[in-house]
Amino acid sequence: EHDTSTPIKDLLKNTRDQLFFINTIDNANQFEGASYEKEYSKQFKKLQKKYARTEAQKKEIAYVLREQFYESPVSFYFYASPLDVFNAIHDNQDKYIVIKGAYFSTIDRGQGSNWLGNEGIFDIFLLKENFIENFFLDSAKGTGYGWKEIAGQTDYNEAGIYSENKKPKGIKQEIIEIETEITEAQKREAILDKKWRETKICTFGDMNFKRHENAPYRNEYPCGNKCEKCGTFWID
Ligand SMILES: [Zn+2]
Repeated sequence: EHDTSTPIKDLLKNTRDQLFFINTIDNANQFEGASYEKEYSKQFKKLQKKYARTEAQKKEIAYVLREQFYESPVSFYFYASPLDVFNAIHDNQDKYIVIKGAYFSTIDRGQGSNWLGNEGIFDIFLLKENFIENFFLDSAKGTGYGWKEIAGQTDYNEAGIYSENKKPKGIKQEIIEIETEITEAQKREAILDKKWRETKICTFGDMNFKRHENAPYRNEYPCGNKCEKCGTFWID
């Protein structure tokens, strides 16, 4: 097999840092009119509880929310070398992606509004599969208005990005786990798990051995285990 990873790495080495973003499952709601202050406080409390660990981070969230006009997803932007992003994804089998120095944001890419924080001071992590599914380039086509288009900003604090196999330490103190849209594989896994728990009926093609009752080993070629109920086959 032709290995493309080395030429791709060489190519990426020559690409300067880029602005990336990840949307979380949280939304910053629209607030305006007479109840503005009340709504603002409610949003601020909710988001700072979830995403701020330091006074500086609280300040950033407050500042960003003051520039909020439309309902939009809470997102994190980070400025990093494409090679580092590539390495974090491909260099090993680790479970998590860690980003140190991300920006808090409620940028509304559909309207081209809302704002990015001033400082990249948020350390975040998420499952690698969720990262792969949910991270984008600010300049990518089809993702709405980029921050560069909205604000013309070109200068950022650089973030570090790497992978870790264990859940990053100090979760409560410093580093924040972010939740994103789940992947198709995770959706399927959740459905299979629920079905098995509730009905004890197994599903053909479910490769989790524990969700089948009787799958003995068979010696004839091709060797492997086969579920007697649904026919799922695990080749040896
Ligand atoms: Zn089965």
